[in-house]
Amino acid sequence: MKTFSNYINGILTPPISGNYLNNYEPATGKIYSLIPDSTDLDINMAVIAAKNAASGWAALSNEQRSDWLMKIAARIEQKQEEFAVAESRDNGKPISLARTMDIPRAISNFRFFANAITQFGGESHHMQGIGINYTLRQALGVVACISPWNLPLYLLSWKIAPALAAGNTVIAKPSEITPFTAYLLSEVCIDIGLPIGVLNIVHGLGPKVGDSLCTHHDVKAISFTGGTATGRRIASVAAPLFKKMSLELGGKNPNIIFADCDYDQMLKTTIRSSFANQGQICLCGSRIFVERSIYDRFKIDFVSKVDSLKIGDPVDEDCKMGAVVSETHLNKVLSYISLAKEEGGSILCGGHRKIMHGRCAEGWFLQPTVIEGLPHDCRTNQEEIFGPVVTITPFDSEDEVIMYANSTEYGLSATLWTSNLGRAHRMSEKLVSGIVWVNCWLVRDLRTPFGGMKNSGIGREGGYEALRFFTEAKNVCISY
Ligand code: NDP
Repeated sequence: MKTFSNYINGILTPPISGNYLNNYEPATGKIYSLIPDSTDLDINMAVIAAKNAASGWAALSNEQRSDWLMKIAARIEQKQEEFAVAESRDNGKPISLARTMDIPRAISNFRFFANAITQFGGESHHMQGIGINYTLRQALGVVACISPWNLPLYLLSWKIAPALAAGNTVIAKPSEITPFTAYLLSEVCIDIGLPIGVLNIVHGLGPKVGDSLCTHHDVKAISFTGGTATGRRIASVAAPLFKKMSLELGGKNPNIIFADCDYDQMLKTTIRSSFANQGQICLCGSRIFVERSIYDRFKIDFVSKVDSLKIGDPVDEDCKMGAVVSETHLNKVLSYISLAKEEGGSILCGGHRKIMHGRCAEGWFLQPTVIEGLPHDCRTNQEEIFGPVVTITPFDSEDEVIMYANSTEYGLSATLWTSNLGRAHRMSEKLVSGIVWVNCWLVRDLRTPFGGMKNSGIGREGGYEALRFFTEAKNVCISY
């Protein structure tokens, strides 16, 4: 059985306590590796390493740091298949998804910020006859990057890359549920000879290592992606310490379908936006609102397509849906299906655990589930389920569907299907959500601001927004 280590000060380091946690393969329900059960002692060691490396790393030119990020990207690319297999095994996602989405995107994240930092500059404000101001953008020092289990390397690298590019040194804390590709990233950093202490990866439980990382005196900023409850907890301990925070949290995203849309394109994309990664993408559209005139047609076509989705062993090339990430999560999603029934919903398809045979007999598989007949304000339609479960609801007017869409505590993303340009603009303006996709879903330009409104978070990632977050602005005013 493989035993992972932390990556601290450039070397693979066992946890100081000597204790390890079990790591499970969701497709089999079996333990297949051990990860460090780190404590504040490991965090302290990592912070010391990052602090010692900070001034040297910040003193490199943007081009030199850019070169290091390019080397990381190139090395991951060389080992792309090993990374994809690890991601699929650790998370339960189809191997095809890890190959085409997770790992290519992690590589792009490093390349993107390697390029972006060479184009990033401060502002200058001229005061006529008086002087000139210019703004320096300086690295913060040691920063924390904490990521969830659903897109493990994709989201971790989305934070690490801009943090390093901007000249910070990093303590990364991957989810303890999906540590494998973060561990492979440590091997990559060792392979390429990344200066020691620049990136440190500490594995372990959120409430233990995550908490001590977020409250450490020498950690200047926290970039966090995860659940809203965890974000609230982090904000409550880190805000009194005046740490910079970027919180990317949960969602309950509406997918709004008008009768005038390109129906075939909408149907194909709605299958993906509902069930990709077993519905475990923060951007999945779990509340589908359909204009009444096409509701019945949509219901028949959608349910028939969902019924034919192939759930299978994630290692199979043609598997479209794999396992959900853990037994706890499986039970959470099943409890929401029971709640939906109690609330008066009808299950149109799915609704049960999927029992597999052979290698996957004890795996955590769930049938993709479609529910109708629920009011917009019931718990099933208000709380984040984060699994392969969607509700469908008819609507009659723009105002009505805007009210439904904006009725939750979340505001991460929204999808809109219509061929009416005026409506697309009108609705986009009214949706309370950080991202609106019109006639598409999950089309990502890494330069654009990414993040949510309301309880979906504070701050924005992506492009220069991320580089601004990971730097401190200092204005210099020169009188002439
Ligand atoms: P969690 O909030 O449970 O965990 C996220 C990370 O935080 C994990 O590494 C976790 O460690 C760690 N953590 C837990 N407690 C603490 C703490 N007290 N202090 C510091 N770190 C802590 O989220 P999940 O991993 O369950 O991920 C699912 C959630 O992430 C969903 O709500 C989803 O919407 C959201 N998400 C948001 C995205 C966005 O961009 N807005 C993108 C992707 C997901 P450990 O795993 O060891 O508990």
